[in-house]
Amino acid sequence: MSLELRGIVKSFGDFSLGPINLKIESGERVAVVGPSGSGKSTLLRIIAGLTPPDGGAVFINGTDATKTEPWRRGVGVVFQTPALFPSLTVLENVAEPLLSRGVSKGEAYGRARDVLVRLGLGDLVHRYPAQLSRGQQQRVSLARALVLEPQILLFDEPLTALDPPLRGEVLPYIYEASRGRTVLYVTHDFEEATFIARRVVVIMNGRVVADGDSVEIFENPPSSAVAEFLGYSNKLPADCGHLYFRPWDVRPGSGYRGRVIAVWYKAGKYEVLARVSDSYIRLHWPHKPPTDIIEFDIARGKCFRD
Ligand code: ADP
Ligand code: MG
Repeated sequence: MSLELRGIVKSFGDFSLGPINLKIESGERVAVVGPSGSGKSTLLRIIAGLTPPDGGAVFINGTDATKTEPWRRGVGVVFQTPALFPSLTVLENVAEPLLSRGVSKGEAYGRARDVLVRLGLGDLVHRYPAQLSRGQQQRVSLARALVLEPQILLFDEPLTALDPPLRGEVLPYIYEASRGRTVLYVTHDFEEATFIARRVVVIMNGRVVADGDSVEIFENPPSSAVAEFLGYSNKLPADCGHLYFRPWDVRPGSGYRGRVIAVWYKAGKYEVLARVSDSYIRLHWPHKPPTDIIEFDIARGKCFRD
């Protein structure tokens, strides 16, 4: 099913979202990325029907669904923290959305079990949520979202609350579940976004500031704000304005001189924190760096006036 937002607006006090216009084709995967507070969750909740927009419309498969109840939208949602009933077993938790829609017990438990087996949880169906790891709990949440066979899946930072090893455990299941469905995946982490989708929508301060191929956006950010958000963490004055560059965009040379503040060794590489005139600069270095003065060239970067 396709998903389309037309002129969506929503305000909370000082914060205003939109107007957002966005079209996601049936079966397309899109990641929505932006810093904390940029309006990602609000946008997702409007699509899911959990927050009413102040204006604009949500079209699902070409039909205006703006006033449709959440459970009638054919949309599954996975949130940052698992939303499970502590007093129900894993199987009961996953069967619950079916039972509450009047599906018979036999069929509901059968379908719930099938989904849990697909998510590698077949041995845990009789456990309670508190007896599971956080990663397993998040997979049960995914099972709850999938059991109604939604054609549209929404994810709101489903890995953010997990430790890195658990993210690696859950991500493959999210990927498998996404196959063949229309997916909108919200995250504040651009790298995570690129795992999920080639098309990335960057949202800042409630506005869409980039929408396109993730590689293209990463290599050619449209503004200094997007560049900084994408890891162009270094900024130095240049003839063109300010040159923004990433730690790995430098090589040994004589163009710039910096005073070394700290050096550390991380994942097989040297990293340097240096002070170049008024700015702190982070650099990746191919070999053991000097301890006092470091000289480098900027191999590539992006120039912005601000
Ligand atoms: P994100 O998910 O990108 O971090 P949110 O959509 O959660 O951003 O929030 C965007 C802004 O809207 C924030 O300033 C937040 O405080 C505000 N906000 C979100 N939901 C509500 C609400 N229910 N009531 C008041 N303010 C809200
Ligand atoms: Mg959020």
